[in-house]
Amino acid sequence: MIQSKTKQPEYDLCVVGAGSGGIGAALAAARMGLSVLLIEKSDTLGGNAVRGGVHNWEPGVGGTSFPFEIYQRLQKIPNAVAIVRMARHCVVPQPGEPAYPGGEALPDPAATYADSMQRHSLKELSPEEKFGRSSAFRSIVFEPEAYSRVVGEMLAETGKCTILTNTAFREVRVRDGSLESLILENGEEVRASLFVDSTADAKLCQAAGCKLMRGQEARETFGEPDAPEQASSKVNAVTLIYRITQRDHAAVDPLPPDVPSECWWQARFPAWLNSGYANGDLNMNMLPTMQGEEFLDLGYPAAYAECRRRVLAHWHYLQTRPDFPEFQRYTISWIAPALGVRETVRVVGEYILTEHDILKGISRQTDPDIITLADHAMDRHGEGGGCVELREPYGVPYRCLLPKGINNLLVACRGASFSSIAASSCRLSRTMMALGHAAGVASALAKEKGATLRDVPAEALRETLRMQHAELEWPCSTHLIEYLKKTFA
Ligand SMILES: Cc1cc2nc3c(=O)[nH]c(=O)nc-3n(C[C@H](O)[C@H](O)[C@H](O)COP(=O)(O)OP(=O)(O)OC[C@H]3O[C@@H](n4cnc5c(N)ncnc54)[C@H](O)[C@@H]3O)c2cc1C
Repeated sequence: MIQSKTKQPEYDLCVVGAGSGGIGAALAAARMGLSVLLIEKSDTLGGNAVRGGVHNWEPGVGGTSFPFEIYQRLQKIPNAVAIVRMARHCVVPQPGEPAYPGGEALPDPAATYADSMQRHSLKELSPEEKFGRSSAFRSIVFEPEAYSRVVGEMLAETGKCTILTNTAFREVRVRDGSLESLILENGEEVRASLFVDSTADAKLCQAAGCKLMRGQEARETFGEPDAPEQASSKVNAVTLIYRITQRDHAAVDPLPPDVPSECWWQARFPAWLNSGYANGDLNMNMLPTMQGEEFLDLGYPAAYAECRRRVLAHWHYLQTRPDFPEFQRYTISWIAPALGVRETVRVVGEYILTEHDILKGISRQTDPDIITLADHAMDRHGEGGGCVELREPYGVPYRCLLPKGINNLLVACRGASFSSIAASSCRLSRTMMALGHAAGVASALAKEKGATLRDVPAEALRETLRMQHAELEWPCSTHLIEYLKKTFA
């Protein structure tokens, strides 16, 4: 971090990272008239929802605004999007069929987007109701290139957003507790009045010296009932997602000589969830490919290479199962170029969302600054993991986006101010987009009112979000139901 001299900002807002959070922030701010610079390290928009292979929005509340618009645009592109529901699942064997060893969700032409907008209450359902063929579980599966293109078009239509791909920052300049500029890897300096960190790993906050949380907090830290007695370095596991495509003959794809056919990293091959794309391909999500700590110990390049070997071994195992010869009619057509990382670090913000908020639920939360709802299970993958379904949605306060210590910076990504347990629920793509949406609106209101980010009035923020179809109340407000009904008709 460098202390710097003053110069005029070039942009109203600089958003770093063009994953779900960054897209939400850039779009919201640019639509409200701010000049926005969006910086993305990779060559494409979308982050984990594109390069990480998570071409999937799991069911959940809160996806009523930008995600719904994206879905509507994707629908106009042939085979770009499907709504899937459970078809076969290991916990509900169907009479006369071999028990499916994983989970399978396939396109359901009768489903609507609204069917994908609730996850909670699964707790009360029987296994058949949860995962059987009449399952209430509906997800959205999309083509990554179409998604990036649509999002790029939406940003371009604002006329206010400059996008720099293949661009990362190398250092930050801070003056009197505010970020002034970023020095890009090519040496250029970028100046802005406000910044949003959407790098997933809170890299901007880290560079600016904000305080971070890592691993699992001890129970005494926040008094969370499900936290371990002792703090640990455990983080949620990572997955390398792959895609398989049908072919006209049956065959077992050859295994490279350095990849054993037996599972070498745990007792047996992991289960997986395959989700169907509209064109009939399947997205293969191993649950998981590598423990989170192993990923952190190995470092990214070695972890990616090892996960790739595990993908090939997993695929060989599926293709050689005598009870499911159907896999021999598919071949791997794509392995995600980026690892699906669920957790690294989280920032300490003005408020830390914890298991207490999640268990309380929106009906008992009294925070005046809820900016989105979420209802995904508390869901830890890997050793010692588990999945606790929720009874009702909970709200995420705006203060979770305000990192302590830097005045003109918001964090809108999975590295926001969440405890490890809260992050395991909150991290879904549509929720991250909603955090970004709130960050973009807050930036615009700060500029309009001449206020600091901390002083943006919560009610004005919430009212603007409501006007832009964000879901802040449960059950859904009449206004929002009318919007959704009208658009679905
Ligand atoms: C295996 C797996 C399965 C999942 N399944 C689902 C699911 O089914 N449904 C669901 O909704 N969610 C799912 N999730 C969660 C969800 O996909 C992620 O938590 C979410 O996409 C994170 O969004 P983000 O904006 O925080 O980060 P990301 O989408 O990771 O975006 C961060 C962006 O920042 C960029 N970046 C990083 N550093 C820099 C830098 N220095 N300069 C510029 N750019 C930078 C990165 O290249 C990236 O594009 C899953 C996650 C994983 C890992």
